[in-house]
Amino acid sequence: MVIGQLRSEVRDELGDNGHEADWIISHVTKMSQADFVLHPRDVTEEELKAIEEIVERRNQGEPLQYLLGETEFMGLTFKVTEDTLIPRADTETLVEEVIRKIGKKKLTVLDIGTGSGCIGISIAKNCKNTQVTLLDYSEAILQVAKENADLNGVNVDFVKCDILEEIPEGVFDVIVSNPPYIETDTIFSLDNMVKSYEPVEALDGGFDGLLFYQRIVEEVAPKILKDGGYIAFEIGYNQGEAVIDILKEADFVSIKLKKDPCDNDRVVTAKKG
Ligand code: GLN
Repeated sequence: MVIGQLRSEVRDELGDNGHEADWIISHVTKMSQADFVLHPRDVTEEELKAIEEIVERRNQGEPLQYLLGETEFMGLTFKVTEDTLIPRADTETLVEEVIRKIGKKKLTVLDIGTGSGCIGISIAKNCKNTQVTLLDYSEAILQVAKENADLNGVNVDFVKCDILEEIPEGVFDVIVSNPPYIETDTIFSLDNMVKSYEPVEALDGGFDGLLFYQRIVEEVAPKILKDGGYIAFEIGYNQGEAVIDILKEADFVSIKLKKDPCDNDRVVTAKKG
């Protein structure tokens, strides 16, 4: 089948404006979207079968990022598996804030609950003088983060640690985290695509959604964040005040709340006093 016809058929089947259709076709055929126009070719039977299978599963609700095994974040490509949350555009607000803060400084950075590694790897890629450590609680997750570090050509360290059970070793200038922050009872009300496919461990922040902020601020940072060190969290849109209170209680200073491009509270940063 010629590429133009395939594109319009896949669009129709997905009921989509072309973005996902082109993404799928490009992924399977290894043709860029410019190639579709500049160097069109017929797709093979095998390619057609692979595309049809993806379209069918997509129409049943599976997130496209899991079907293709990859996504884009901060202009970089990241592999994702069902062990890791799909990187969200919201999280770019956190990463941009940390990159701006670090600039060219020579600092050590710990990314707690790294998942696919998208936060720490994007920081390492943009701040060449940092030494970034990616931390998560399972080997399967760290394996995905390792592949992503290789894919993006950054030299980072890895630590397997469940911060709810133990305190990681080392001292760091910066702690960054997008921890699980959804209240346990509201997980059932999330979009079907999120709750049926994404790892609940990456979402569940305890009964009030604040479990990981409390643990990091009250138990982890006192031991491993340098005095004067910087902490940056992604938060839920309604958690600004609560997370600021947790930081104030623990004597953090210069506490700031930032919004994402949709005007929701999204990031809290602070300095260890
Ligand atoms: N922003 C994610 C969501 O809405 C939640 C991420 C998290 O819990 N850290 O699904």
